[in-house]
This record gives sequence, structure tokens and C-alpha cells, in this order.
Amino acid sequence: MNGPATDDVYLCQVDETISCGACCGLYNVADPTREGLTVLLARRTERFHAAPRNLEGLLAFAGETSRVEPGARPYPEFHHCPYVGLVGDRRDRAGCLLHPLGAGNEGIDYRGLSYYGGMACRDYFCLSCKTLPARWKRLVCSAAGDWHRFGLMITEADLLRAFFSEVERRAGCAIAISNDDAPIPVDLVRAVSAFIDLRVDWPFRPTDIPVANYFFEDRRYERPPVWYHKLDAGPSGHDDLLRELGTAFSGPADRTRAEALLDQCIENAATALHRRAASPMSTAINQNRKEPTP
Ligand code: SF4
Ligand code: SF4
Repeated sequence: MNGPATDDVYLCQVDETISCGACCGLYNVADPTREGLTVLLARRTERFHAAPRNLEGLLAFAGETSRVEPGARPYPEFHHCPYVGLVGDRRDRAGCLLHPLGAGNEGIDYRGLSYYGGMACRDYFCLSCKTLPARWKRLVCSAAGDWHRFGLMITEADLLRAFFSEVERRAGCAIAISNDDAPIPVDLVRAVSAFIDLRVDWPFRPTDIPVANYFFEDRRYERPPVWYHKLDAGPSGHDDLLRELGTAFSGPADRTRAEALLDQCIENAATALHRRAASPMSTAINQNRKEPTP
């Protein structure tokens, strides 16, 4: 399979608290809130560590997981892996309990027991990994704050592309974060964090549009279009953002407020970026930047 081609920003496990397990079906649960998922994964991880590390023990663990964690899946045909849990010394991030580096696995790769098989677990990379430029990925890594927000945001390739393209268009320059050590302005991080807040708790998302994103290339579950005709109005200038956030308006006031929220985020980020670009240090970074455009 194809890995990330454009750069070397590894998104699946970033640091002690930032990680993603969205392609393992992490958010495809009845309660995908941070609180709900944390409780579910903590209990599951506790049971996993008591399970014998052999074929029978690990298959029995998966069966028990299905039994004690019932609940409708928002996307019925999107597999939720019973082996996604909490990893790290303090179990502070989402990750694969079957990974060879996982606690108690003693270097043995048990991922062959998964629904898709070990090769898919090792080699799959989502569109965000493969198509988003490094400068946007690094910014989301810095702004996410925790694994729950990160996984919900980083897998939104279309949403991120629409947001950052507009930010850079308004600022008149590309975000210049050319390497891991380059400092990122606090106000830019803060603006992106506010955008992640909107992604997680978008107030105009109707209950029949799941918080989880189905981002696979077969596009089996696409976000529905925004129905402006109910407002007797044409499409918003932010239509691509509104659609990817999952939006339904109950009246014109909703639309005005939604557009204002998005505008504020974009404007704050563009202003921070413009300010940064005007500094002598960042001009040098910009001139040396070799990233491709998305
Ligand atoms: S959805 Fe993408 S970033 Fe997240 S774990 Fe899968 S490949 Fe990694
Ligand atoms: S076994 Fe595969 S699908 Fe399941 S959590 Fe691990 S990497 Fe994800």
C-alpha cells in the first residue's frame, strides 16, 4: 500500500498524549465524546492486560469486548476494532493493544488477529497522511491538545484543506513551519485550536450526522449537502467547510452565526500567519521552504 509520500510527519502516534486510531473505528461507537470514549477504552485496556497473550486468550478478549460493550455503530459497515485501547506509560493516548511494542506483548506482533489482518494494520495510511502538506499536519499536532481532538481533526482531509487554503489565501502566504523545531506562533496555534473546537462540538450538526468521520476512499458514507433552499437562499461562501462539519440550519440566524464563527477562526489564523510572515526570521524560513502545494 501507499504510505505518506509528501513528507515524514507521522500522524498515527505523535507523542505521549497525541495519537489517532480513527481508521481502527475508534470513534464509531455509541458515545464518541472524550469522556465516554476514555471510560470505554480504560476499562477495555484493563481487561486486555489481564488476558493471556495467546490465540485463545486474545480471541476470547475480543468476544468479551463485543459482549460487554454493546451499542449501535453510527456507521454499521465501518468496523470498530476491539483491540484499540489506551497505550503509553500512563495510558494517555489511543493506540493498538496488539502492537509489538505494546505493554506485555514482548515484541510479538499480534495484529494478525485483527479483522483486516496484520498487513492492513501495518501498511494502511489515510488520505490525510498521504495528501496533506507537512506544515498543516504539524500545526494540527501542535494545536490538538489531546488524542481525542487530534483523531477527530486530523482525519478531516477535505475540511483541513478548505480551512488552511482560505487562511493562507487571506494571509497572502503559506504557513512556514519547515521543520519540527521551528517555533509556531502561539496565536496561530490558538486559532487552529479554536477551529478544532468547532469540529468537535459543531453546534449546527444534526443528530443524524455522526461525530465520527468515514474518510475511506470508497466514500460509502459521505456528509450530506447543506440544504440552503429551506432558507430560500444561495450557497454560503463557506459551503465546503459547512458541509464537512455536517450542517443543517433551522433558520437564517443559524447560518449567520455559523458563518461568523468560521470567519472569526479563519481571520484570527490569517492575522497570526500574516504577522509571523512579516517577521525577518520567518521570511528566511519562507524562502527556504520546499514543500509542495497540496
Ligand atoms: S486514520 Fe490516518 S492518522 Fe489516524 S491512525 Fe489511521 S492512518 Fe494514522
Ligand atoms: S489490530 Fe489493527 S485495526 Fe485493531 S487497533 Fe490494532 S492497528 Fe487498529
